[in-house]
Amino acid sequence: MKHKEKLVEFCKNLGFDLLGIVGPEPLEERLEVLVDRHKTGYNSNFENKDISLRISPHLILPGIKSILVLGLGYYPEAHFMDPSKAQVARYARGKDYHVVMREKMTQVVEFLKTQEGDFQYKIFVDSSPLIERFLAEKTGLGWIGQNTCFYTKTTGSWIFIGEILLTIDLGIHKADGISGVCHNCRICIKACPTGALEGGYTLNPHKCLAYVSQARGIIPKELRELMRHNLVGCDICQEVCPNNRGVLPCRNGDFKSMDFHNIDIKDMLGLSNTNFKRLYAGAAFGWCGKKVLQRNAIVLLGNQKKPDAISLIKPFLSNHDYKMRIHAAWALGQIGGSESKLLLEKRIVEETNLQVANEIKDAMDKIRQKTPHYS
Ligand code: SF4
Ligand code: SF4
Repeated sequence: MKHKEKLVEFCKNLGFDLLGIVGPEPLEERLEVLVDRHKTGYNSNFENKDISLRISPHLILPGIKSILVLGLGYYPEAHFMDPSKAQVARYARGKDYHVVMREKMTQVVEFLKTQEGDFQYKIFVDSSPLIERFLAEKTGLGWIGQNTCFYTKTTGSWIFIGEILLTIDLGIHKADGISGVCHNCRICIKACPTGALEGGYTLNPHKCLAYVSQARGIIPKELRELMRHNLVGCDICQEVCPNNRGVLPCRNGDFKSMDFHNIDIKDMLGLSNTNFKRLYAGAAFGWCGKKVLQRNAIVLLGNQKKPDAISLIKPFLSNHDYKMRIHAAWALGQIGGSESKLLLEKRIVEETNLQVANEIKDAMDKIRQKTPHYS
């Protein structure tokens, strides 16, 4: 591209904190890591299972010549966190970044068309088969930490990454050298409450609260208490990292305007579909859907152990979805007391699903252990 400075200026004016251009060569150096992850079962359901697609830009956009990697910092202002409310991870406290990033990236494509004429392109924000963190690292503008997050000097790990695959050659644009490094201090590994970080830049998604809280299905029993009051995501391994010290709140108003910290957990359980869409369709976690968030809210009520939540959990004990019944039974076991015990005893007589019946039995055992006089 003749006027790369103009592109850089345009992206800066849109508020991007990261801009790098890399070539379309296959990411062959990552093949071994991906194969290992596949073998160990460490792929998450959010990843494309086809390893060749994950490392081969030309399979995604034939004729590709450049990849423009863009990033937006999102570190929010500090908030008062009410321990009686549900919290969401920092990435999810503003507007849906998928929408924000895509809008800005579309403007970048329109700008490029005014400079370069017509070309083919594909925009990805969290939706690319390619490994975005690796592409970002390839720009030379940041690094990947042991917690597997991508960092830049100014945003720390609090950065959204997206990329535009292009059939025009923009030329390489990268910094002269990496602007920081992971200190290998292992603080993140020690701080992870679930042991999901195994060292060697390896994350087991099936143990990671950030993944588990957004995935459909049953939250493993051993992880439920560890969710504490976190409805969506987990920031612990980023909060403790020395490389995130001193990061300033982002300048982007989109990530300040919708604030989803301190969500009323009980309100979440009573939400209609219409109200769910009205309140959360524009949130970064809205895509998880009402059922996943209600499942998490039930777990959070179990963690709070307050008897006034029993009446809210009760309808979920006979929900048509057995997975909701499993979490409801667990939460009642956590709360305990005679009312929970009666509800569980009544339900186990009607329950036809073996997995739910076992969960109910475990919950009843838990109540008996805590209050032997109920036996
Ligand atoms: S996000 Fe939370 S659960 Fe996942 S690796 Fe980091 S600290 Fe562990
Ligand atoms: S906490 Fe230490 S080991 Fe973990 S990512 Fe940060 S610098 Fe690296």
